[in-house]
Amino acid sequence: MPFFRDIIGHPRALDILQSMLLSEEIPHALLFMGEAGIGKRTVALTFAQTLLCRERQMPEGESEGWIEPCNHCLSCQKLAAQNHPDLTILEPEGSTIKVEQIRALQDRIIFKPLDGPKRIILIDPADKMNAAAANSLLKTLEEPPMHAVVILITSKPFSLPETILSRCQKIAFYPLSLSQVETLLTERKGWSTHDARLIASLTGGDLGEALSLEIENAREIEAGLYTLVSEKTLNDYEVLFDVATAHSRDEAVLAQSLQYLAAWFRDVLVLQSVPNFDLLDPSWLVYSWRHEEIKRWAARMNTHEVGAFLADLQEIHQAQIRNINRQLALETLLMQLRDKVINQKQKASG
Ligand SMILES: [Zn+2]
Repeated sequence: MPFFRDIIGHPRALDILQSMLLSEEIPHALLFMGEAGIGKRTVALTFAQTLLCRERQMPEGESEGWIEPCNHCLSCQKLAAQNHPDLTILEPEGSTIKVEQIRALQDRIIFKPLDGPKRIILIDPADKMNAAAANSLLKTLEEPPMHAVVILITSKPFSLPETILSRCQKIAFYPLSLSQVETLLTERKGWSTHDARLIASLTGGDLGEALSLEIENAREIEAGLYTLVSEKTLNDYEVLFDVATAHSRDEAVLAQSLQYLAAWFRDVLVLQSVPNFDLLDPSWLVYSWRHEEIKRWAARMNTHEVGAFLADLQEIHQAQIRNINRQLALETLLMQLRDKVINQKQKASG
């Protein structure tokens, strides 16, 4: 189990949780919200462990520090063995969290904790509760037992009913910056800056995924994503169509493709912002190893066009939740890029 001091990033969220531990004023309902894969659950488990720990470690003297679990008392041991009677983790059975699961939970939490001061319930991901389950949970949130702490974890807070949201104290989690992930990867994995950056940019601040990705694998993924902007794709409508199909086959794949395009065209903007491309240190770019090609894009489009393209990307990214036609959306984006490539060729030959 991690300590608070080992958690990377999330300084604001950790501060809030630490002040709760210090004051011993723990809300009955907390909502941890932020993108998937950035460590909400790890933080929730560390918080739960500290709450239940019998020999909680306080920071020493006046020095800065965290309140930490001891990691060896009986409670901490049970938690590590995943059989602590006062911690319940509710996860989807099948595709949703069902009302029966919430009812079973309610039957249990009315009783006093068996071991420690609190009964903690983690619901992850909370947005998987179906309407009946959410409705049933609401009753608990309206009149929670004294000793209950419910932690809802979600990357889609907007899909939870307002009645639930309004009863939770919300704690926002933000992705790590690419440079934070990059630094961590060079430290922990001993990778070169170049490799660390590639993985950081591919995983978009998802540290868990970044740590589990092998470098060869990452290079292969990048090579696949690169086909989105390569001239070979954009010059040939049939290839473009195939690439758009492959890179929009499901929500996660489309999200990664959009992220790649966004980082690529942010690089183009960076290049355009310097008076002389050739003077720019390529290490400023996310895709520094492709800077020759990014240079060509910087000449192909003006800053206004790049900005408009990024705005379109953003719009599609947000529209995903409304299940737009993914393939058509990506194809439209690539067609815009194709126009630029073809225009430039015509200018060059005319
Ligand atoms: Zn302990």
